[in-house]
Formats: sequence, structure tokens, C-alpha cells
Amino acid sequence: MATCTICDIRKGKRYCTARGEDICTQCCATEREVTINCPYSCAYLRESRLHEKRPLDEKQMPHRDVQIDHEFLQRSEMVLMLFAAFFNRALQPVPNATDRDAREALETLVAQFRQGNETVPEGEIAAGIVERFRAKMGEFLKELKDRDAGPFADKVCLGILVFMTRVAYGYDNGKPLSRSYVHYLRSTFPEGDQ
Ligand SMILES: [Zn+2]
Repeated sequence: MATCTICDIRKGKRYCTARGEDICTQCCATEREVTINCPYSCAYLRESRLHEKRPLDEKQMPHRDVQIDHEFLQRSEMVLMLFAAFFNRALQPVPNATDRDAREALETLVAQFRQGNETVPEGEIAAGIVERFRAKMGEFLKELKDRDAGPFADKVCLGILVFMTRVAYGYDNGKPLSRSYVHYLRSTFPEGDQ
């Protein structure tokens, strides 16, 4: 058995899809989503998700001042499903997008409804996601405003987007290359799979 190409000490028991080499189990665990750009297809990555601890700090919840209750979520469930699907699709052209990029994009979208101005995020990847998402959301928003729900459309959008930032916060494992949230979306909306 070959030696791990990362530590050069232990046995390379695992084939790392991202590196195209055999690495040891320990390096796989410590470098996963830290220095290794792990693809969705990696079985070790998926397995690790089951044991990922996500200590949630209520104080760090994004936009805590925006109240989202159970009733709102129930009433707006359709919008949530639609937005999550749009967002997942907006992520598809950039398979290297991390949770950080996704969260940067979501924050820009929330700001659009909180501050009322359409800004573009600094990150190139996030900017692309926002652009693709806005194209889809724009059509939907126009339709929604033409209906009875018109006056509430912006409020619904804000609530749903804020909810999405909280879900993303909950999934992000904090590693620099975390794709826990991105992969969660992808597994929820498999039609986006290519
Ligand atoms: Zn190693």
C-alpha cells in the first residue's frame, strides 16, 4: 500500500477523489473541506456529514430582529420551496461554490429587501449566484405583485430569504471550504443534478 501523499507517514488507505491520490484516514478527516476541495460525489465526505457537529449559537443567528414564526413559514411554504429551488439552480454553474459564497449571496439578497437597493456582492462567485437568482426571482415577484398578495410580496420575500440565511448558518460547518449547506440544497432538489 502506498504512503499517504499528504503526511507521507501513514498508509494511504483512502482514495481522495479531489486529489486523485491515496491519502490516510487521518489526513482525510483533518484536511476535509479545509485544504481539500471535496466534491459532492465523495463517499467519505457524505459519511462525515452524518457526524458533523453544528453547535448553533442563537446570538449568531443572522437577522435576529426579523421575526419568523411557524405560521408565516406555513403560509409561505410555497415561496420557500421555490426560492430554495431557484437558489440551488443558481449554484449549479459553479460547482466549486462554498457555503461562504452561498451565504454571501444570500446576505446580498436579504439586503435588497431590507435596504431596498440592489447591490452586487464583492465575491465573483456570489455575484454570479445573485445574478442568476435575481433573474428567476424577478419573474416570480412580478407575478406575485400582480395578485392580491401584492402589498405583502416584499415582506414575504424578506422573511423567506432571512429564513434561508438561518438554514445556511445552521448547515455551514465553519471550515473554509464547507459545502454542507450547498450539498444539502443539492440533495433536496436533485433535479439540479447533472
Ligand atoms: Zn496522511
